[in-house]
Amino acid sequence: MATGHEWRSELYQDASAQFARCADVLGLPDDLRTRLLEPRRALTVNFPVRRDDGRVENFTGYRVQHTLTMGPTKGGFRYAPGVSLGECSALAMWMTWKCALLELPYGGAKGGVRCQPRELSVGELERITRRYAAELIPVIGPDRDIPAPDMGTGEREMAWFYDTYSQSVGHSVPEIVTGKPPVLGGTAERRPATGLGVVYVIEGMMERLDTTLRDQRVVVQGFGNVGEVIASELFAIGATVVGLSDATGGIAGPDGIDVEAAGAWVAEHGGLAGFADAQGAGGGLREIDRSAVLELGCDLLIPAALERQITVENAPRLDCRMVVEAANGPTTPEADRILAGRGIQVVPDVLANAGGVCVSYFEWVQDQQKYSWDAIEIQERLRRQMRSALAKVWDAAGERDIDWRTAALTVAVRRVAEAARLRAIYP
Ligand code: GLU
Repeated sequence: MATGHEWRSELYQDASAQFARCADVLGLPDDLRTRLLEPRRALTVNFPVRRDDGRVENFTGYRVQHTLTMGPTKGGFRYAPGVSLGECSALAMWMTWKCALLELPYGGAKGGVRCQPRELSVGELERITRRYAAELIPVIGPDRDIPAPDMGTGEREMAWFYDTYSQSVGHSVPEIVTGKPPVLGGTAERRPATGLGVVYVIEGMMERLDTTLRDQRVVVQGFGNVGEVIASELFAIGATVVGLSDATGGIAGPDGIDVEAAGAWVAEHGGLAGFADAQGAGGGLREIDRSAVLELGCDLLIPAALERQITVENAPRLDCRMVVEAANGPTTPEADRILAGRGIQVVPDVLANAGGVCVSYFEWVQDQQKYSWDAIEIQERLRRQMRSALAKVWDAAGERDIDWRTAALTVAVRRVAEAARLRAIYP
């Protein structure tokens, strides 16, 4: 690894390759490319946490703020074994593009703690969250950097984070973090927001392509906070869900999977494994390897789990018409090229999954105004905002005859480049 490029990682290379393609289309000068690409600030923290058995273990956490040009920074923090400076840097960059595309007044950020949350008790997770929050105090604030949920974190962690920050400053500051439980100043609809946003984008896309959601056969990889909402909403609208997977297993159901029944099974058993067999022979379902769901025949393939799932290895075998990226960074640039060559279109993550940060923005605004909006109002505003971002991407792709990912990035990068130009250089 080259000295001075500490944030480099496979995922950062993916994000950089996507950016380079867009910068070529826009004809950005070299100095601006570097300025827009590299993370503005990165904090690494190592901190001790007392485990339940009395041992003291050191954990490593990060917070990367990609650009300070657009206002405070915004983005989630994750708990996963693969969390690294390089991963957070890529994810922070994507947050910048996501916020710019949605015209939210934020730059991107991302953070996390390297750990396996499944192997930690609730008490240990609380101590990790509180200490991580305390370590970030020098760089965060309601007008500086506002964290949120991401993989392995949710309302519970946001409540601890909010409380820790508030204790440290001596009064309650709900706008320090979004994705809080509603009773603590969280907003209606934040929990399902990312999934709902994905569905609104798909609806809009289907209208533009002159087809309907009811005619689509759908595969969803991931049945967590995002994947379950998408699968349930699409099922309720009348689409046929022909494949599902989570960390415990995969299911194929060419005649359709009852997503409501799958959700009830997961609530009781903790994962999808065993669901297909429990439905009996008449259910038409079979258990498959969880990585095999990506290759099931369908119209819409929706990766809603981890990054780098669609690679050179499996891209030639995908059997779908369109990929809708509910996860961040699920498709590598090489796979993107293979899919483009095969005529499979990709609705990029920065558009498809931006509903989460959009409703986070609504939460932050409501917290500052001390006034809350109801679920209907949030849904309407979210739908409008997602539809307007889709329209911009669609138009940019048509004008320049480019793929949707590059089109989305040109819209976002132009906005940030323009802000950087107007703010000029200090001193
Ligand atoms: N972690 C989410 C994302 O990747 C949401 C971030 C936020 O709400 O600030 O977009």
